[in-house]
Amino acid sequence: MIYSKKEGFRCVGDVVVYDEKGREFYSFYPSQRVFYFNLPKGQYRIEGDVKKLGGFLPFYRKIKLPILDKPRQPNNYKVIYEEGKGLGMIDHGKRIIYLSHTLKKNRAKKDFVLAHENGHRFYNSEAKCDIFAIHAMLKNGYNASQILAASDGLTRGNERQKLVFNTLLENFKN
Ligand SMILES: [Zn+2]
Repeated sequence: MIYSKKEGFRCVGDVVVYDEKGREFYSFYPSQRVFYFNLPKGQYRIEGDVKKLGGFLPFYRKIKLPILDKPRQPNNYKVIYEEGKGLGMIDHGKRIIYLSHTLKKNRAKKDFVLAHENGHRFYNSEAKCDIFAIHAMLKNGYNASQILAASDGLTRGNERQKLVFNTLLENFKN
């Protein structure tokens, strides 16, 4: 299925969602339970008893973004895949965001790192850029579990993932 915008789904029992390259994109195994999830726009193959809801499910409050650290930079950065600059790096002088080739294997992680680097257009601190990335990922239809997985292993001791976890928890809507 191709979805041209983010969508919400109702599912009974286990679900596995594959991306356009056949890689697992999202899965959940609640046995017989009914649950709901969102998907960002894209092309998917879904295995499970799933019904599209015709709308996006707002599980989360819109994350409140921190006050900008610097004047808003224009959104005209080129994205280039190149090694030797960590997972992601932004060069404000050249207006380039560098991403590691390793991110091509994991769309959620790529989107998280790209959103984080975009965050550096407004913020200096890593924490604020991560909050910016969470905001962007939720807005684009990612689920909390995917965002958490995307932030796994970014730092030794997973300090950044702890912040992602706490931010998601604080903003969950019951
Ligand atoms: Zn950063």
